[in-house]
Amino acid sequence: MLTVGIAMLQGARHQHMQSILRAAENIDTEIEIRELRKASDVEGVDAFILPGGESTAMKIASRYENLYSKIWKEIRDNDTPVLGTCAGAILLSQNGLIETSIERNAFGRQKESFQAEIQISLEGADRFPGVFIRAPRFMQGSRHPIAWLEEEVVGVLEGNKMALTFHPELTEDYRFHVWLLDRAKRQK
Ligand code: GLN
Repeated sequence: MLTVGIAMLQGARHQHMQSILRAAENIDTEIEIRELRKASDVEGVDAFILPGGESTAMKIASRYENLYSKIWKEIRDNDTPVLGTCAGAILLSQNGLIETSIERNAFGRQKESFQAEIQISLEGADRFPGVFIRAPRFMQGSRHPIAWLEEEVVGVLEGNKMALTFHPELTEDYRFHVWLLDRAKRQK
């Protein structure tokens, strides 16, 4: 049984919940979802999901209960696998959990939100439906790219930390969620 912790302070939490349940079904894995709201919820989590939303709102909401500082500590101490999407990727970068730096709201107004086919390199190269919502952009030069929108890197994998500027939880393609469960299994 794997315990998957989803940061519940703000953002697209319920879509991630659905996706991780589908992913678990697809690979016949039993999971328990833990809704993370305060630091004491974090103990014993095997994999983290940091949803998209508004990273500033998340930081403000977290101050009170210190949820994120506990999550960062857990990831640092135990190398717990984590999937951060959009605002979740911003938090991973801003807190130094991934080395790739990121710029918020970096697509111009016209292109604030859009869908486009992207390329991924997860288990072999393939296409993936990219959903971008007021997306951030990785700065140049990531050494660990895993997803591309044309020439631009839109996903990085650094060790057990996956940071994506798009939203796999808004699609019916569960490969990134399956990846998280596979990593967590290996780690356990
Ligand atoms: N624009 C948001 C931020 O800066 C991220 C958008 C998203 O998560 N969809 O936090």
